[in-house]
Amino acid sequence: MEMYFCPLFSGSSGNALFCQYGNTRILIDAGRTGKQLDEALMSIGVDPSTLDALLITHEHSDHIDGAGVMARRHHIPVYATQETWEAMEKKLKKMPGDLIRTVQSGKSFWLGDIGVEPFSIPHDAADPVGYRLWGGQMSVSTATDLGVFTENVYSAIRGSTLVLLESNHDPELLRANPRYNAQLKARILGDHGHLSNAACAEALLRLIGAGTKHVVLGHLSPENNTPTLARNVSETAMIREDIRPGRDVELQVALRDEVSSIFRLKETD
Ligand SMILES: [Zn+2]
Ligand SMILES: [Zn+2]
Repeated sequence: MEMYFCPLFSGSSGNALFCQYGNTRILIDAGRTGKQLDEALMSIGVDPSTLDALLITHEHSDHIDGAGVMARRHHIPVYATQETWEAMEKKLKKMPGDLIRTVQSGKSFWLGDIGVEPFSIPHDAADPVGYRLWGGQMSVSTATDLGVFTENVYSAIRGSTLVLLESNHDPELLRANPRYNAQLKARILGDHGHLSNAACAEALLRLIGAGTKHVVLGHLSPENNTPTLARNVSETAMIREDIRPGRDVELQVALRDEVSSIFRLKETD
């Protein structure tokens, strides 16, 4: 069986990642309007009402904007940690009780054909998590909105077939950006902020060393990064270690405002 993964949106103006294995369809985060999410799903041939679950990483609006609408409109259960629920429940408006589900980092569970492993990430939110999704022997992990790539994150996602990792900013561009105040810069650069291109590249080398074959750079800053720059930093780090993108590993950049390409993972990958 194939495992499908498609970033629908990735970045500070909205995040939503689609994953399917067997008969189970999951959306990680719903940080756009319901209409935009419906259209994005339909553009890849997915009827939004067939989604089995909405997994939420944390309560920042770029991850939950359309969550309430999507859940009510299509009757999809929403999964988040207890602290995240407390932080976002008001923003989701009236959530029917039967759609509220709680997860805990480190506690895996089954959602139909997919095994779900939430893991803790360091970010300035109530109790933020990333997710590793298992389909057979394959797994897809997503980790964005993290200040540092901790050993805990590494051990949670090592060996994943595909990893979508944050490559948020170039620290030089961020520091020189006159439109960001000192406080915002400190927040982004801090241990509970966002991962830089260089930190992402270092983490990817470890993950590729542990068997990851597909990497997607995500949650790029619109002002302090470009897709070309993010890609170059990771590519250069890989080539230095004699890892050839395109031959040894597939490297893609998730688009901010449009649906990215669909990854089709096979058991042999
Ligand atoms: Zn975010
Ligand atoms: Zn965030």
